[in-house]
Amino acid sequence: MCMRIESIRIGYETNSSSSHSFVLLPEPRKTDTDRAVMKYYGWGPELLTTPEEIAGYVLTQALENDKEIFQTVLGDILYNEFLKEVKIEDAPEIDHASIWELKGSKYSALPNFYRDFLKWLLKQKEIGIAVDNDNEPEYDTLPEPKGFPQVLYRRKVFVSEPGNYYLLLCKGWDGEVTRYRVSFKDEPLKPEYPESIDVKITEMCDNNCWYCFENVSHNGRHCSFEAFTRLVSEIAGKTLEIAIGGGNPLKHPQFMDMIRYAKERGIIPNFTVNIRDWVEFMRNTPLEKLKLFEDLGIGLSWTGVGWHLDEILALTQASNWILNYTIHIINRVHGTEDIERILEVWYKHRKDKPKILVLGFKKPREKNFPRFFLKEVLKFEDLQKYSGKAIFLFDDLAVEQLGVKDYVPPETWKLFYQGADGEYTMFVDLVNMKYAKNSYSGRKYKITKWGEMFKHFRRWGKGKEV
Ligand code: SF4
Repeated sequence: MCMRIESIRIGYETNSSSSHSFVLLPEPRKTDTDRAVMKYYGWGPELLTTPEEIAGYVLTQALENDKEIFQTVLGDILYNEFLKEVKIEDAPEIDHASIWELKGSKYSALPNFYRDFLKWLLKQKEIGIAVDNDNEPEYDTLPEPKGFPQVLYRRKVFVSEPGNYYLLLCKGWDGEVTRYRVSFKDEPLKPEYPESIDVKITEMCDNNCWYCFENVSHNGRHCSFEAFTRLVSEIAGKTLEIAIGGGNPLKHPQFMDMIRYAKERGIIPNFTVNIRDWVEFMRNTPLEKLKLFEDLGIGLSWTGVGWHLDEILALTQASNWILNYTIHIINRVHGTEDIERILEVWYKHRKDKPKILVLGFKKPREKNFPRFFLKEVLKFEDLQKYSGKAIFLFDDLAVEQLGVKDYVPPETWKLFYQGADGEYTMFVDLVNMKYAKNSYSGRKYKITKWGEMFKHFRRWGKGKEV
């Protein structure tokens, strides 16, 4: 039984027009998929090298974790396949801070992942347990083997099963998230459902941006709450994230209910708002209510006004939990001076690196937009100069417009490119009940049956049109 990591993505999917398809990291990350490292708090690093030691450790983790999962899913495997010789009384003690926090729910694919993962662990020759005193990773103190699954020391793990593999979104103590595609099968990945969906919930917005390509206005329509709950029920357990957008999603009267509904069903409801609208929302919302947004990504559309970000970060710092922001800039609308401004304001408040998503430039809805506003195409080399200070992400259109692929070594591309729009992601417009590969696609299809929509998605994945 093998385990492969097929791709890595940093941060949440917050773009509501197409996918985050590539990440430029400050320094390249490596994975070593067939070796195991687990984090252990409060004790020295250790290697488990005998089948009994490994089985005992796995058994303890299973027992300490979700009893229901253990009994219903793992009991048979552990007892019948691997652990005939290991008694529960012999299981080692594991410090409470080192117990994996893998909690299942009826919408989560976690029991399936857990079963496959433990089966894989039990087949390893050795397992390294690393130390995380003071929450500082200490992989370097570990002898070989190093590598995956470092995910398990993360504070929270979200799991879905979009096809013949798993998606794991792991959140660390610092609030940072990393998403992995993990496969235990020796076959190509086949997504049956999108990993993430860009969802339009409203056409209301009064910002009137000159570069807007959406059909929005100050009295635009909202989608029905029923349409939203129906979509979420269809994808629960399979799709991991949605990227809610509009219009201004904060204008939807049931926006908070939607966030709550999706979270309760194991889906991470990221959303994107204009940075100006988010300042206003934060000012008018009690801080404790904003905690609802803790485990999701918030995309902030940059307008060039530094004090908006300044105020947002100041308000966010007032809480003792973390809101995870990605700042969106647009090729040809924003330039490197915007990046400078973002960095200047960001580092006034935070020590972690900001995530900046570069979006491709789309033709504005208003044909007579002021062309003299258009800036030069952003240069990848220029962005690289800031890569020690920021994490850059690119949507599929920006990948094309900036020629990102030409600058990246093939192995990095393979691990970090998330796929073209329509391959692992899609767009659903719940206001007009239409879907497409992405929001700016000229070809949109009417939602008649939900099942039909996902059949079409599978065809896109095979490189076919519907
Ligand atoms: S904030 Fe977004 S949706 Fe609203 S007008 Fe500007 S670009 Fe369009």
